[in-house]
Amino acid sequence: MNKMSGKRIYLSSPTMHGEEQEFVKEAFDTNWVAPLGPNVNNFEKELAEYVGIPHAAALSAGTAAIHLALRILGIGQGDVVFVPSLTFSATCNPIVYENATPVFIDSEKDTWNMDPIALERAFEKYPNPKAVVVVHLYGTSAKLNEIMEICARHQVTLVEDAAESLGSTYKGKFTGTFGKIGIYSFNGNKIITTSGGGMLVSSEEEITKKATFLATQARDQARYYQHSQIGYNYRMSNVVAGVGRGQLLHLDEHKKLKKAIYAQYKEGFGDISEITMNPLNPDGDDNCWLSCITIQEGCGVMPDQIMDALDAENMESRPIWKPMHLQPVFEEYDFVTAEGFKSDLPADSKMKSVSEDIFNRGLCLPSDIKNTKEDMEQIIGIVRRCFGR
Ligand SMILES: *Cc1c(COP(=O)(O)O)cnc(C)c1O
Repeated sequence: MNKMSGKRIYLSSPTMHGEEQEFVKEAFDTNWVAPLGPNVNNFEKELAEYVGIPHAAALSAGTAAIHLALRILGIGQGDVVFVPSLTFSATCNPIVYENATPVFIDSEKDTWNMDPIALERAFEKYPNPKAVVVVHLYGTSAKLNEIMEICARHQVTLVEDAAESLGSTYKGKFTGTFGKIGIYSFNGNKIITTSGGGMLVSSEEEITKKATFLATQARDQARYYQHSQIGYNYRMSNVVAGVGRGQLLHLDEHKKLKKAIYAQYKEGFGDISEITMNPLNPDGDDNCWLSCITIQEGCGVMPDQIMDALDAENMESRPIWKPMHLQPVFEEYDFVTAEGFKSDLPADSKMKSVSEDIFNRGLCLPSDIKNTKEDMEQIIGIVRRCFGR
């Protein structure tokens, strides 16, 4: 058994290949350890080429990239930003850093992402949002056609949080390249990692230039240190960028392995009608970053039971992101579903939503690309036993 072998099976841990160390070694050998240098420039160039966009800025985190995107768009006090409720908090924390107001949008069932119907409805009460931030959850692209049409009609800027969907495409084009600004994350559990880092991409050079300017303390062009704006220390280091360059060489391979994991789960649960895999977008090619399931309501099995059973065998799983509109820290902000607004209901009345339903019935299964076929069979067996199979 896994427990006896002492091996832990992870949700999604870093997978290194060797080239990473060579790029890092090069940085040491040339003393380009800090701050910027050839690895940073080349990582930006190589990632931009990979996703097919002209400009990229390497940053210290995906969260930093989202923060800078908002700064570049001039979002501040009192501005409304539409953002999905079903996401990781890093998508919306930067909205609050800038004292702007997030309005949370419910998910649709087809992709689990921002519901275009709820998004359209949000304009009834908030006709002038400053931006829409779309997320491609677990690697599955949102309904970008519908969302982009709505943004264009209302003349609102689209930002793409593609932190989880690097390598996923929608209608043949990489996610992250549809919005005015796109962001990626290289956090430890993402499809490729630099140990920690992010990237901001755009088809407009002005935007990435502004990002690197703000990311290096917003120094004016002057001999002395002069600042006309508030800046940040958000740049990626040349050592970290070396890890990224090595990882990028293996992105296609990681994606292929992630897709195989998804396929193996789908097949392994094929005869259990109580289990549904997370949806993939038929208009896209998913990176399958995390494989998730939802459990049929009332069948007697709860996500916690499965997570406990996996944990007992030293296997890591995780609940679905708890929706932002249910987070104590974001309690004061509005939430919009296809049916209506939280702000129109009496306080503490319960609101039905797709995002909460997915959260209640779902979980993320171990999706580590180092899982062997036998590991996968073990995981599938444990889940099946929870359903008495
Ligand atoms: C990981 C993640 C981020 C944040 O990226 P970091 O690099 O960890 O700062 C933002 N949004 C989503 C949806 C994420 O999953």
